[in-house]
Amino acid sequence: MRKRSIIKRIKLPGWTIILIVLLIVTGSILNFFSYLEENRLEETANASVIKDTEDYSGRFPGLDVLVRTKHTDEYTYSIALPETKNESINSILMDWVAEQEKGFTTAVKDQSPQFRSNLTIELDTKRITDEIYSFIFSMYYYLGGANGKEEIQTFTVDLSSGSLLEVDDIINLSTYSKEVKKIIINKLQQEEVLQDVLIEDQLNTLLKSPDEWMWSLNQDSFSLYFDEYEIAPGFVGAIELDIPLDDITPYIYEDIFYQSEASTEKVNEQIDIDKQEWSRLDPEGKYVALTFDDGPHPSVTPQVLDTLNSYDAKATFFMLGIQAQYYPSLVQAVAAEGHEIGNHSMNHPDLTSINDEKVRGELEQTNIHIKEAVGFSPATMRPPYGAYNELLVDVMKDAGTPIILWSIDSLDWKSRDKDKIAQRVLEDIHDGAIVLMHDIHQATAAALPIILESLHEQGYEFVTVSELLYQRADEIGPHYQY
Ligand code: ZN
Repeated sequence: MRKRSIIKRIKLPGWTIILIVLLIVTGSILNFFSYLEENRLEETANASVIKDTEDYSGRFPGLDVLVRTKHTDEYTYSIALPETKNESINSILMDWVAEQEKGFTTAVKDQSPQFRSNLTIELDTKRITDEIYSFIFSMYYYLGGANGKEEIQTFTVDLSSGSLLEVDDIINLSTYSKEVKKIIINKLQQEEVLQDVLIEDQLNTLLKSPDEWMWSLNQDSFSLYFDEYEIAPGFVGAIELDIPLDDITPYIYEDIFYQSEASTEKVNEQIDIDKQEWSRLDPEGKYVALTFDDGPHPSVTPQVLDTLNSYDAKATFFMLGIQAQYYPSLVQAVAAEGHEIGNHSMNHPDLTSINDEKVRGELEQTNIHIKEAVGFSPATMRPPYGAYNELLVDVMKDAGTPIILWSIDSLDWKSRDKDKIAQRVLEDIHDGAIVLMHDIHQATAAALPIILESLHEQGYEFVTVSELLYQRADEIGPHYQY
């Protein structure tokens, strides 16, 4: 109110106000980019570290992923953004993400402050060759009440040329347009949920403009995605149509197909984990459970592991399913060194803002990716942002999985400063503490030796969350156990 009256009083001419608004808008866009850039620089600086230690190259050659999260009193967001070895692809993806984020924060401003809005952008990665990938982003946001938005966006990228591929770079539509459309229509008509409800006019219009198709490809199928209302009434929701590759092979350009046959996805072999015997904790001893969330991260996690190892410290890593999917060899390294792996959801949404089916999906998918890497599922779970409600407690009760919160927040995500992180942890330390940190920030890796050295001198020992729960359940920081 006050600002408005000042503007009125000094009577700026209209064009000046427009210029100021433009400057502010441009400024905040630039800020967002410099924020992304900052993260990127931090990560690039770390990239050399990993090469000196061990090679934890990810599942997808030339690709990394990081889930960026933010929480304020008004909203939370989590955005899964792939980073490729090609800068022009990266800027295309970042531009798209920045646009979604801006649309969301603008919409949040009109919301009642009682409700904390949530934006989640999920990523599904499909590999065609070592250079060509499809990214499927599913974006949804909730703004309280019935206000929300769900949208899918796909990109198929060629990392060697730095270009986005259109569907007719993959499928020979100039010759076989009719045949391909027929396959698509037939497949849609076979879907039970679409019986008698397909809006044919809209479908035909869409099929005439392949530039607008949302699609992906991998070595099994060609998939098409339709937003809610796009080709069917709203109750059907968004549609994913998977067409087996065999059905469409004759129309796919041979060189793409040949490349995709030539390479196979790199999946690590499972390893045998020595399940450590939990030694009975000394009643006179002092114990701390260090926890690391949101990883594993290709350069930070190996540093954290090295430091823990040099103090013979055991810790707990609450992993995101998508990070585990990208870095199965890191999941293995964490387990092989005797640390605990916990479930931190697939995409880091606020689990209190999504329905029960989605909550279960988030947790199950994460279990699948972790199990794929190490052969077992996590025994504990930490909800993103520490946000839980009755529904989540019920779901976790069914699964027999305790919900683990924390008693000390290092605020590493906020300060990104090793001394502040260490100070914050050390000043509040107590027997039975559960300490929250994130193995995605370089500053956290740098703070860890300071923390471990000081706590070691004070006579603390470092155990996993399950170990602490098992023996000291009544005494330790906030958790739900059944
Ligand atoms: Zn988290």
